[in-house]
Amino acid sequence: MKRRTFLQGMGAALATGALAHAPAAQATRKRFRWKLVTTWPPNFPIFQDGVKHFARQIRRMSGGRLTIQVFAGGELIPPLQTFEAVSQGSVEMGHGAAYYWAGKIPAAQFFTAVPFGLNAQGMNAWLYSGGGLELWREVYAPHRLVPFPMGNTGVQMGGWFRKEIHSLEDLRGLKMRIPGLGGKVIAKAGVNPVLLAGGEIYTALERGTIDATEWVGPYHDLRLGLYRAARYYYYPGWHEPGPTLELVVHKAAWDALPKDLQLLVENTAMATNLWMLSEFEARNLEALQTLKEKYRVQVRVFPREVLAALQRLTGQTLEEEAAKDALFRRVYEHYRSFQATHEAWSTISESAYAQARDT
Ligand code: CA
Repeated sequence: MKRRTFLQGMGAALATGALAHAPAAQATRKRFRWKLVTTWPPNFPIFQDGVKHFARQIRRMSGGRLTIQVFAGGELIPPLQTFEAVSQGSVEMGHGAAYYWAGKIPAAQFFTAVPFGLNAQGMNAWLYSGGGLELWREVYAPHRLVPFPMGNTGVQMGGWFRKEIHSLEDLRGLKMRIPGLGGKVIAKAGVNPVLLAGGEIYTALERGTIDATEWVGPYHDLRLGLYRAARYYYYPGWHEPGPTLELVVHKAAWDALPKDLQLLVENTAMATNLWMLSEFEARNLEALQTLKEKYRVQVRVFPREVLAALQRLTGQTLEEEAAKDALFRRVYEHYRSFQATHEAWSTISESAYAQARDT
């Protein structure tokens, strides 16, 4: 009797369950085949690898319900047209860095990195827990894009110089490959900032067309062979203290995705954010040792006077940009207020610990 009741009950539960879950079952059967375009060269370590890793994880975890085909820059569309392509919905996803779109949205630069701004830990804190991501979503909404942080290089290197820098005077008149706000800041110190794509840097430096260049960090710089064209390798990367990379999803495609797949994308992007940062951290250390020991690169810190001047000029530059664009000002103020709090805390936590360890 007991058993019969149980079986009857189960039968009823299965029947109602099947009915109640019919639309959900249909949704889970639906398969999505998406395209993702990146701004990176094919086989670009960590950057492009991280995106492939992301797509692979999602395919496996979704049991093939969401398959993302990844295209490197230029394979489907030119690298710097990914924003437009995803915004228009020609492809569902894109990966790059928000500051590439500074021409369209000057405020987007805060979601990657600004000179003397937040480091990777600070960026993650601002974006995930300090309201930064909500602000980013709002800034991208008119472009029909949903952004997610996905990758961070950590603090970059200051760059390769063909001659030593002892003072501000030594910077004057130099031609340096340095993009974005960093370029605007250093221009105020008398440097001529030059824009060059990754593939053009080595030759320009080797031939002396430029006197200096920044790129990424030891791992990528070693691969580009920059140590053969310049001897002095300066730190820190004041202009890119912890650039966040972005995943963008076309809004209509995002809305059409069932909730569980949305969560899968969101959480895999977050896991990939950590994966890329960890890869940079581990690989850079090994590469720096190779540069120093095998190639006898002279690693130098920028003189205090130079860094102080660049920091002052950064404040001026950000104020000038904010005066030109209301949205820039709004994001700047939000960012600046978070950075002040973060710095006050990190002064007695991360920085204090680093100082204590190094004494
Ligand atoms: Ca860089």
